[in-house]
Amino acid sequence: MTQPTRPRPVAPLDLLDVDSLLTEQERDVQRTVRRFCSDRVRPHVADWFAAGDLPVRDLAREMGGLGLLGMHLQGYGCAGTSAVEYGLACLELEAADSGVRSLVSVQGSLAMYALHAYGSEEHKQEWLPRMAAGEAIGCFGLTEPDHGSDPGGMRTRARRDGPDWVLDGTKAWITNGSVADVAVVWARTEDGVRGFVVPTDTPGFTATPVPRKLSLRASVTAELALDGVRLPAGAELPGARGLAGPLGCLTEARFGIVFGAVGAARDCVETALAYTAEREVFDRPLAGYQLTQRKLADMTVALGTSMLLALHLGRLKDAGRLRPEQVSVGKLNNVREALAVAREARTLLGANGITLDYPVMRHASNLESVLTYEGTSEVHTLVVGQALTGHSAFR
Ligand code: FAD
Repeated sequence: MTQPTRPRPVAPLDLLDVDSLLTEQERDVQRTVRRFCSDRVRPHVADWFAAGDLPVRDLAREMGGLGLLGMHLQGYGCAGTSAVEYGLACLELEAADSGVRSLVSVQGSLAMYALHAYGSEEHKQEWLPRMAAGEAIGCFGLTEPDHGSDPGGMRTRARRDGPDWVLDGTKAWITNGSVADVAVVWARTEDGVRGFVVPTDTPGFTATPVPRKLSLRASVTAELALDGVRLPAGAELPGARGLAGPLGCLTEARFGIVFGAVGAARDCVETALAYTAEREVFDRPLAGYQLTQRKLADMTVALGTSMLLALHLGRLKDAGRLRPEQVSVGKLNNVREALAVAREARTLLGANGITLDYPVMRHASNLESVLTYEGTSEVHTLVVGQALTGHSAFR
């Protein structure tokens, strides 16, 4: 085999040396999560994906032990890390699989964040320590079969019956839905949209797994049915009024995706670099051809710029200055770029690229969901458009 004529860079996955912009503590968090993924996720994830399942409870307990659940929240057993540390954890988790990162995002940034930001003291005491430890699983029910991008049209209703609340409706595509102990459910009331804390053993609550998914297969997704679910007074989140409540949670989760997508892209670049160095076509390494190098160079540009963008947004968040439209720029760019990187990596692996022996097609397939959930790419385009022009083009 022809050998490379020049030494390869010390860190081909970090050509721009973004690592030098991280603190020792940030690198430490990243290393810890990377090690966890190497030991506990990577050896099994292809099988989980093939089976269409994820051992949510086992993983949650282990991740709880590492402080990864609700890790950027303060108090109640949460680790209280910086936003950048949380982002780097998401990056490493998604480098293993988007489904594993989704588990952590939904638990920490959607369900726990909703309870932390809007819940009563009783809600927080009852749920957050157990959720941080991974002993209780949470889900977040906003989307409905007929209302995804426009949650304002939701039909799920909560009505008063004496002091109680009674909920009726259906929530679709709910991550962790059929394994959750508690659901944060958003419903229309006489007072506008409110959030409710629903223990999943409440009579009238059922969760049915979504079958036949072709994406995010190593993740539990379910439809929730609420049929006369009776909750006591105090089940509502006192701090959330209107759609600003769920949208605040979504901004949190989208931030994690900005970093997570970089992880999926990095894993694809790493795989493509290794594969093209070894694979010989027409009697020499695939890596030596100009067409290959153009692909690898484009993938590396996308990886480096996405990482810089994620880190910049993380620093803004830690400074308390991150705005929702900036998160939209991050999600729009980084998921789009990660998907392009995954598809390009797939071409470099040829037929091997379509198997679960390599991660690239799994990432490409997962990223189709990531492109759609937490606001589709079109929705984020419109958020940015509105920020730029002042005109809302949503309807
Ligand atoms: P639609 O809203 O019907 O959109 C269809 C198409 O129309 C999209 O391309 C969209 O961008 C486009 N579109 C919409 N509005 C406009 C417009 N104004 N102009 C132009 N184009 C437009 N939801 C939860 O609440 N909790 C969860 O835990 C959760 N987990 C999920 C897990 C997975 C694997 C998936 C796939 C989804 C999950 N979702 C969850 C739902 C997700 O948030 C929705 O799928 C998403 O918001 C899009 O809604 P929709 O699928 O109904 O698409």
